[in-house]
Order: sequence, then C-alpha cells, then structure tokens
Amino acid sequence: MARIIPLADVRDAGRPTALAGLVREAAKSPAPPGPLVDRRGRGLHDLRISVTDRCNFRCIYCMPKDVFGHDYPFLPHGDLLTFEEITRIAGAFVGRGVQKIRLTGGEPLLRRHLERLVAMLRELGPLDLTLTTNGALLAKKAADLAAAGLSRVTVSLDSLDDATFRAMNDVEFPVGKVLEGIDAAAAAGLAPLKINMVVKRGVNESSIVPMARRFKGSGHIVRFIEYMDVGATNGWRMDDVVSAREIVDLIGAEMPLAPADANYAGEVAQRWKYRDGGGEIGVIASVTQAFCRDCTRARLSTEGKLYTCLFAQEGFDLRSLVRDGGDDAALDAALAAIWRQRDDRYSEIRTAETARAPKVEMSYIGG
Ligand code: SAM
Repeated sequence: MARIIPLADVRDAGRPTALAGLVREAAKSPAPPGPLVDRRGRGLHDLRISVTDRCNFRCIYCMPKDVFGHDYPFLPHGDLLTFEEITRIAGAFVGRGVQKIRLTGGEPLLRRHLERLVAMLRELGPLDLTLTTNGALLAKKAADLAAAGLSRVTVSLDSLDDATFRAMNDVEFPVGKVLEGIDAAAAAGLAPLKINMVVKRGVNESSIVPMARRFKGSGHIVRFIEYMDVGATNGWRMDDVVSAREIVDLIGAEMPLAPADANYAGEVAQRWKYRDGGGEIGVIASVTQAFCRDCTRARLSTEGKLYTCLFAQEGFDLRSLVRDGGDDAALDAALAAIWRQRDDRYSEIRTAETARAPKVEMSYIGG
C-alpha cells in the first residue's frame, strides 16, 4: 500500500514565517532589477502553474486510486488562486525575465473557463504559453484555447494500445479520444505538439516503438519520460525505470536516430532526430542523467505556493502575501529572495532513501 502524505502537512509547508524572514533578510541587500540567479548560478526562465489539484484520470504512477479515492481531501475552491491572482504573480515572474509559462495540474482543462486565464496571461507579453493535458477534454477546448492565445500544447499519452492505456489511466479512458484531442489541437494550430509518454517497466515498455512509429513524420514530437520518484504515493522503485538510453536503443534499432543539439540551454528533453528526416523524438532522463545543473524552472502550486524543485518538500506561500495586501514591490522582493537562496539539486543526490522521503505530489505541484 502506498504511503500517504496527509494533505494538511503539504498545506502547512507554506512557511509564511520563513518567507517573511527570507524577505526581511533579503531586504538588507535587495536584488537589483533584471534577471535573477540562484546560488548555483541558474537563471529563472520557466514558470509552471498548477491550476487545479484534481484530475479525471487516476494514472497508477501519479494519482493511484487507493490514495486519491472519493474521500480524498482535494483543495476547496476558495483555496485556489484566482485567475487574477495567478496573472499578477505570473506578471512578477515575467518582470524578472520568465519567457515560458506552462499551465498544468492535476488536469488543467478541468479548471472552468481556462481560456480566460490564457487570454489574461497572453496580455503579459510575447511568452511561450503552453499547457500540459491528458487530452481527454482537448477536442472540445482546443479551438478556444488557441483563440485565447495559447502557443502550443503537450499531451500525455502512455500507450497506443487501448488495454494498456486504460489500465494505466485506471478510469477506462480510451486511446481514441486522446487521439481526437491531438488532431483537434493540431487543427487549431497549437503546434508543434509534444506527446509525453511516461515509461514504466513491465507496464508499457512494449508501447515505446509503436508510439515512435505512429508519430514519425507527423510533425508531433514524442517525448519518452523516465518514471520518477515524485511524491510519495506511487511506490517508486529504481527497477521500474526504463532508462533513456534503453529507449533510444530500442527505437533506433528500427528507425535509426542521431543526437541533435538542444534548442536552448536548459531544455529538459534530449533531442534525437530520425536519420531519414522523419522528424525527432525527445527523451527525458531525469533519473539516469540528472539535469539539475540546468534547471531554470519555478513551480506555482494550485493554492499559490512557490516551489523551486519538483521534488521539494516545502513551498513558499505567495498567496498569503498577495491576499494580505502585499504590493508589487513586496511580491517582487519575495520571489527574488526565494530564487536567490535556491540551492535544490534533488535528482543529482537521489538515493533509495531520498526516494522514500516525503515530497509533494505531482498532481498538486504540477508536472
Ligand atoms: N493532467 C495533465 C497531464 O496528464 O499531462 C498534467 C499534469 S501531469 C502530473 C503532467 C505530466 O507528469 C504527465 O505527462 C504525467 O505523465 C507526468 N508524470 C506524472 N507522474 C510521473 C512520474 N512519477 N514520473 C514521470 N512522469 C510523471
């Protein structure tokens, strides 16, 4: 049985006092305007915003049903950041050089009128504004999201085999509906589309090659993700990880691949191109080849806590700051102070021991 972190512990981890102390301390040597750098010399380029902690799937590796059941205490609506609050906080990040914002969750398309938030964020400037979704509601929403100013989408799809996919999402959701969502997103111009497949040994590794085959030449980029020890409910074991190396070898044996340069410093996926010009794939080797050294991502949870690492145990409560009347200067000082003291590098120091440590759930912090 998976170990449960009581949600209360996660919520209490906001450390308003710690944040106040940090900001007070930072006020003694305020950050000059402009881009921020953390203690390991890493900039701040991406912001991931979780807009809901709820999901309509119960993927076995992310929100297992025995933990996230009918009685699971999801956040009450009043605890969620409003669209205005999200936009205000995002604006502070953009003021510090963030160029890419990704909406996530939970399942972001469950948040009502999400296209309104997209339109509000679009007003912040020429950002790369993207969304990660399981695709279930995408066919319905793609056109509105594109019209509101979304740049592109990433769709999670763990297998093309219907039985495997249903077993993984654990709510009997069919592959065909996700494929409809992918087609609708492409038709709406939300391209280039990325398709994320998490690979778990013994569950879906036989889907790797068919997935590559299916999308080769489509213009969509499939990204194969090593199964990670996020959260504490999925019972992760190193043996369950299929390495990026194995994935590249499997695909390359049928469809030869050559490594390609990163599009930009800090890109999460390693790129591989088909030698025959059929496009590219990506592999995200967060377990076997940690990329903490290049990590420029901040994460804002559904209720407004700022996390400086996907594997963090604690976040900083920006919602209190905003709801208690903090002005833009206070918000900027807080995020500057948080980023400048950032020292995280979890994936570089991962051990079997740390994998069992309490961490926030991916569905709460956002993938
Ligand atoms: N519901 C949306 C979706 O399905 O894309 C967004 C949230 S989901 C948490 C974001 C991504 O995280 C998905 O691609 C999911 O497969 C991935 N993910 C969740 N748990 C993971 C784990 N333990 N290891 C690797 N990826 C994981």
